[in-house]
Order: sequence, then structure tokens, then C-alpha cells
Amino acid sequence: MKNKILLISLVCVVVLVSGCLDSNQKDDSTKSAIEETQINYRTSFDDYNYQLELKNEDFRLVCIQGCSASDERFNESFSDLSRYVSLLKEVTKTNIVEEYAPFEAHATEDFRCKFASENTLAYANVMRDGNNITRGLMCLKSNEIATDVIVVHELTHLWQLNRFPYNDAPEKLISEGFAGVMSSLSYPSNTNNSFCWEGNSPAVRGSGSSYEDRLYAKGRQLFYELCIDHGFDTDDVPELFNKLDKNPPSNAEEFVLIINEVVGEDTTQTFEKAGVYDIYYTDMGVYWGEYYQ
Ligand SMILES: [Zn+2]
Repeated sequence: MKNKILLISLVCVVVLVSGCLDSNQKDDSTKSAIEETQINYRTSFDDYNYQLELKNEDFRLVCIQGCSASDERFNESFSDLSRYVSLLKEVTKTNIVEEYAPFEAHATEDFRCKFASENTLAYANVMRDGNNITRGLMCLKSNEIATDVIVVHELTHLWQLNRFPYNDAPEKLISEGFAGVMSSLSYPSNTNNSFCWEGNSPAVRGSGSSYEDRLYAKGRQLFYELCIDHGFDTDDVPELFNKLDKNPPSNAEEFVLIINEVVGEDTTQTFEKAGVYDIYYTDMGVYWGEYYQ
């Protein structure tokens, strides 16, 4: 109930602000024409000559000329993506931020989606399209190998844009950890749709061999333990996003304060245990103080 009230008040604030931005002299018809133009401006994607293209109000999925995906597989990918966009909307009770919506997804590697590392199967980013419009971008190396877990993980990154801090190693640990537990919602065995699901526990997942792997593992452990120890679960996500929208944190410390507000407890120790306070980048990659000093 509390969440609903917060959401409703947020909507009211948005309405008020947009009301203030419109000049008072304009009548209602002019106002709605302006709003419509703004919507069309963002929803009309550039007309690059893709071989396959499907779109809805949230995103467009494209595949370049010579696309390796069959029409059937491409259609399947589109419906999978649509389903998981609905999941993200349902869990967060919000959308990707306006500045990057609707987003664009590329089904294979192409001029827009380059893959530097062989191990990367997908990534999320931002782009400026052929019409000079900024959008969220989801790159799949090949939609033949894109699993549900990968898709939900990358979609979560799109939902994090302008909300989660992403400036350094501690912030990366938080973002990857949250994307990790969100993607766990796509496992059929996670029947309660909970971040407390066993499969998120370090006991099941292990701790990762490389430093980079450990960052993902520790991040996931962080959100698993926030759930187990402090009750932070999927039902708290709308409140989290609401707070992030009102006051986007600029670093990990500020993010911790927001989580504290959401759960009504001090969670510093849980973040400490995940290594948020002593992880950092060097030229060689990610390090933890405990190992490096
Ligand atoms: Zn990620």
C-alpha cells in the first residue's frame, strides 16, 4: 500500500511539472499536439535498412542484412524480449528512463554492437541513433545463444540507466549483483520469485575464479544476503526505483543509504561483507584490498 501511495504521488509530481513546463497561454489542443510530437519523435526509429525488424511501444529488435537468425527464431526472440520487458515493468513498477526509451535491441553482432571480448555474449549500453536520438541499446552476440537469464540481466542494466551509480568498481559490483538476482527470476525453479532463492546463495553459486568473476559472485551474494538478513526482496524494488528516480545516488555509499531507508535497517555490514568498501580497479582489472594489500 505504501508503494502505491508513493507511486501515485510520483505520477502527480510528473503531471504537475509537465503542466508547469507548458506555457499557460496554450490551449489544450496545442498542448496535446506538442506531447504527441514528442512521443512520435522518440518512437520513430531510424530507417537503417535492416533485414529483420519488429517493434512495439517499448523497443525495436533488429537484425542486419545477412542476418543469421531464421524468421522464426527472430520472432521468438521478439516475444521473449517483450515478455521480459513486461517482467521488468511488473517488478520495478516503472519503465526505462524517458531519455533512453524506447530502446533498441540488436539480435547479432553488427556495426552498432561490437564485441571486443570472446567471452561476452551480450551487453547493454546507450546509443545515439541515425536520427540523433539517444536510446538504450541491448546487444546480443547472437540471438541463437541468448538465454533468458542473459536477456533479463541486460534488460536490468537498461532499467538501471540514470538510476544506479556506475562510476567505479564498488558501483559495478552493486549493479551486476542486482542484475544477477533480477535474472534469477527467470529460473523456473525460483517459484517464489524471490531474491532469497537458494540459487542466488554463494553456497550454490561458488565465489568465482577470476577477480572479475568474483565481482559478479560477490554482487549476487550481496543481494541474496540483503534479502536473507534484511528482507530486501522483489516487493521492495518499486520503492527502491521510486527513491532512485527522486534522488539518484552518485556512488555506492549513497546507494547504501537508500537501501537502508527502504528496509528501515542499517545494511552497511552486508555491503561490507560483499567487499563494496575495499574493491577497486587498477590497470590490471578488479582488486580487493584484502588480496592486494
Ligand atoms: Zn552485467
